[in-house]
Amino acid sequence: MLKGIIIKGISGFYYVEVGDQLYECKARGLFRKKNITPLVGDRVSISVVDEDEKKGVIEDIHKRVSELVRPPIANVEKVIITFSIKEPSPNMSLLDKFIIFSEKENLEIVIVLSKIDLDKDGEITRSIKEEFEKIGYKVITVSTVTGENIDKIIEELEDSISVFAGQSGVGKSSILNAIDPSFKLETAEISKKLGRGKHTTRHAELYKIGKNAIIADTPGFSSLELNNIEIEELQEYFVEFGQYADCRFGSKCIHKNEPGCGVKEAVEEGNISKRRYESYLHILDEINNLKGKFKRKL
Ligand code: GDP
Ligand code: ZN
Repeated sequence: MLKGIIIKGISGFYYVEVGDQLYECKARGLFRKKNITPLVGDRVSISVVDEDEKKGVIEDIHKRVSELVRPPIANVEKVIITFSIKEPSPNMSLLDKFIIFSEKENLEIVIVLSKIDLDKDGEITRSIKEEFEKIGYKVITVSTVTGENIDKIIEELEDSISVFAGQSGVGKSSILNAIDPSFKLETAEISKKLGRGKHTTRHAELYKIGKNAIIADTPGFSSLELNNIEIEELQEYFVEFGQYADCRFGSKCIHKNEPGCGVKEAVEEGNISKRRYESYLHILDEINNLKGKFKRKL
């Protein structure tokens, strides 16, 4: 048996990459009986049915470390949340939301600040980097124009499955191209083989980049995702609140108007960023407004 990884799935066929070979596989009927669907990203064992035609059967699906819903991909470990310093200017509220969705999915978060060549005195770059490093996130500042720190992104991507998140225009494709100039070509070619336009596909697919890095389609994070988050749950995804959340009302405290709130105290003392706290309150309202008739008076 051979071990590989499912890089795409189309109408019942799974394309399993084993080293630099690609096998077209069917899944054993057994999985259907057990109600298990192989996912892109699954690490699998296959038996080869026809070596010349590169056809095989998936015999076993290895234990998943994670499972994303949109797009459906198994074993994504990292999310590279990309924001540009200028053009477009960083939308901090959106950055906080990407962090929330990623924390909820238990992904390891790496924040990439791109286009730093446009930040002449480096002031904006420095302040955003500091804010997020203080919370404990890894921050990489890059420019595809000067090539600065592209090597650090490569290092981050090696040996895992990662997704890039971020608004369009922040430079995600440029970063991927800087890592591997043939990358764009390759993805365009795959899309052509499938007979669809590059931007119309929403099926999950993995791409190899660099030596041993795998990246997946950008996840479909949108504000609608807030629908799946409860009022009391939101604070879990502002990881820096945790150590200060020693509040009079205990775990019932949503750190808004309650007396004796440790989080509010930490904001006043400057231990929690005021911007992050205000962003939290704003998103709390947004979640509440999505609750329709279950909306509460906060
Ligand atoms: P994507 O939509 O996130 O994939 O963004 P693109 O990679 O298509 O980049 C959007 C625009 O930003 C393009 O015009 C790029 O040339 C430009 N761009 C990308 N990276 C940089 C950078 O590091 N510095 C500058 N000044 N422009 C960049
Ligand atoms: Zn509190």
